[in-house]
Amino acid sequence: MDKSILLDPGTSAIAIENEGARGNIVIVCEHASRLLPAKLGDLGLDPSALESHIAWDPGALELSRLLSSSLDASLCYQRFSRLVYDCNRPPEAASAIVEKSETYQIPGNKSISEAERQARIDEIYLPFRNGLFELLSSRKAGGRETILVTIHSYTPIYFGKEREVEIGILHDSDSRLAEAMLSEAERQDRRYKVLRNQPYGPADGVTHTLLEHGIANSIPNVVIEVRNDLLASTQQQATIAAYLSALIKKGAEAIQGDWQH
Ligand SMILES: [Zn+2]
Repeated sequence: MDKSILLDPGTSAIAIENEGARGNIVIVCEHASRLLPAKLGDLGLDPSALESHIAWDPGALELSRLLSSSLDASLCYQRFSRLVYDCNRPPEAASAIVEKSETYQIPGNKSISEAERQARIDEIYLPFRNGLFELLSSRKAGGRETILVTIHSYTPIYFGKEREVEIGILHDSDSRLAEAMLSEAERQDRRYKVLRNQPYGPADGVTHTLLEHGIANSIPNVVIEVRNDLLASTQQQATIAAYLSALIKKGAEAIQGDWQH
């Protein structure tokens, strides 16, 4: 990192917690943080924009930590805002570094030089991607099974329109875990409106982590999206965590026969 131009030396874009966890689940939270590297300033945004859902997924890291604890799962998260680089997007995607998000213009991302774009890939995306890859590889080398669960939250009002879905269970071509979780959600008390591939789906480009780390390695995988008004307080976070923890456990049990070989 000596040649880093974006991050302070010794700073990593990936944080791993509970690395020695004994459970089969690995939790990933790409939009955990709204922190910007000091060298990038505020990207020309005012404080309210920097605290809003365009910068991060409010409540997602707290939820991820609760799940990491209840499922005894390792947790990987991105230490910096997705406004710098969205680690759930490959480098070739225009949406990896956005010039506009919902109704917000992002001046600091407009017309950035090729060198700065490359620095963001080198110092944010690649360390995140490689750190997660190494964690999954070392589990495999140790003969451990893994299920990949990524945690997100979304804004209840998008482009002025209210979203009714409360929890989205998202999948790409490998739908094993999502199917099992959706069936379980149906069987339960239906206290939340849980829908498949809502409010986003594969066509929106939100399954990069699943494709890169799950599907490429035959690891069962799912994205869980929670409407962020349901994660506003610590009590709500605990309630959602308990609900999802049970759903993930049931889903994992249901598919165990499929992937333990
Ligand atoms: Zn997200």
